[in-house]
Amino acid sequence: MINIAIDGPSGAGKSTVAKLVAAKLGITYLDTGAMYRACALYALRNGVSVDDEEAVKKILPDIRISFTGEGESKKILLNGEDVSSAIREHYVSKAASDISKLPSVRDYLVAQQRKIASETDVVLDGRDITSNVLPHAEFKFFLTASADVRAMRRYKELIARGAEIEFEKVKADIIDRDKNDSQRAYAPLVLTPDSTLIDSSDMSPEQVADLIISCVSDGRRGR
Ligand code: C5P
Repeated sequence: MINIAIDGPSGAGKSTVAKLVAAKLGITYLDTGAMYRACALYALRNGVSVDDEEAVKKILPDIRISFTGEGESKKILLNGEDVSSAIREHYVSKAASDISKLPSVRDYLVAQQRKIASETDVVLDGRDITSNVLPHAEFKFFLTASADVRAMRRYKELIARGAEIEFEKVKADIIDRDKNDSQRAYAPLVLTPDSTLIDSSDMSPEQVADLIISCVSDGRRGR
């Protein structure tokens, strides 16, 4: 089984790169951030505070997340409904970061992520894949970029989706999420000593994907 784990802060290009790597290797891509976003969306829709551990714990059994399709047509389903677009709304990002602090939510989703990784060749991206979900993954990467570059990428993405938002607001939110994700008590974002660090500030997604694939091919040849 091949497990390729990619962690890094918001806007580092993880999902674009992970999708490319998965497509080039012909394996599955698992977007773990989308799972936290789907949980946050369910809580928001049902009037449950994303900071309230007890209330969130009660709704977890009602949240069924699944995926359908592959490549560009891959969709995330929340109780059967396609929420691929809804979870990308700006207000869901902060809620996802908040709900992801709750140990019960993490335990619920991490168990599902580990099950998928044990059954399939997969590229997973997130915040705690290399440190917590799959600490023994064969291939581990930490993808980052400067805060300005990451904010600009996210800003362009939101504008392309028709959002009306200022660049400075996007940058402030990215910095706030970085802090939230790296300073939380339970499974924070960390660079593990055995992960390969890649700074994508001056690299295209293709270049990063090729670098990861060459590391994976070298590693496999070395075994
Ligand atoms: O990667 P993405 O921005 O879609 O993730 C949304 C939020 O979900 C992140 O800000 C982070 O707080 C949380 N997350 C996490 N662990 C993961 C993936 C995402 O805590 N493995």
